[in-house]
Amino acid sequence: MKKILNLNLNLKQKLSEIKLLMQYAVPVEKLEQATGFVIDLRDDVIGLNLCHHFYSFLPEPNDDYIKNIALVARRKGTFLLLARTGLSAYIYLVSQEKAEFVSSADEKEWSRELLDFFGYRDSAAFSRQLGNSKTLPAYIPSCRDENICPSCRVEHGEFHILGCPLEICPWCDGRLTGCNCRFTQLERDQVTRIKDIEEFSRKLTARGRIPYNKNERLSFPALADDRESAPE
Ligand SMILES: [Zn+2]
Ligand SMILES: [Zn+2]
Repeated sequence: MKKILNLNLNLKQKLSEIKLLMQYAVPVEKLEQATGFVIDLRDDVIGLNLCHHFYSFLPEPNDDYIKNIALVARRKGTFLLLARTGLSAYIYLVSQEKAEFVSSADEKEWSRELLDFFGYRDSAAFSRQLGNSKTLPAYIPSCRDENICPSCRVEHGEFHILGCPLEICPWCDGRLTGCNCRFTQLERDQVTRIKDIEEFSRKLTARGRIPYNKNERLSFPALADDRESAPE
């Protein structure tokens, strides 16, 4: 509960920092539009991380602003996003922890690591998808997208990031981070060492992890309550 409230505070701080940075980065006549766009992302860590990075380190020396964001791909809680700006378009990799600038969208050579992670055969295949960027879906703030785990941001059908408080325990059907199964499975009183966590992870995989299921989203009443009662 505490963690979620803190997360909200951080988002609030992030938003006010972005607004401050925007004073220096956005052409005056676009400030209102650009600010409205960012405010719409106020409860979305992914969108705010991207905007915070963009306005902290403008990709080019000219004043610029984000007009909209399109979703290129996402996997395991990492979003590959296209930020369309007043002057250009840029690709970012964004997770709950951070945003990373990849390159301008008209880049021709993409890193093998990036292509492999998101399952593109080669740079040409990826550039083709970006070339048709009008057909890319608009990015829906992850907190409003029911296909996305509200805590660790994986997609419906994917395994949660280990440690996500919404992962269901395959032994007892409770919450994996709250139940005692890790102690009973490892026959230990404490599970803090990396070695133990790795061993537990192996046992968990062998038992069969339960992926995020968007249809169970409403069965997390504590989380929904926290969000509604969180201070603005
Ligand atoms: Zn999760
Ligand atoms: Zn359990």
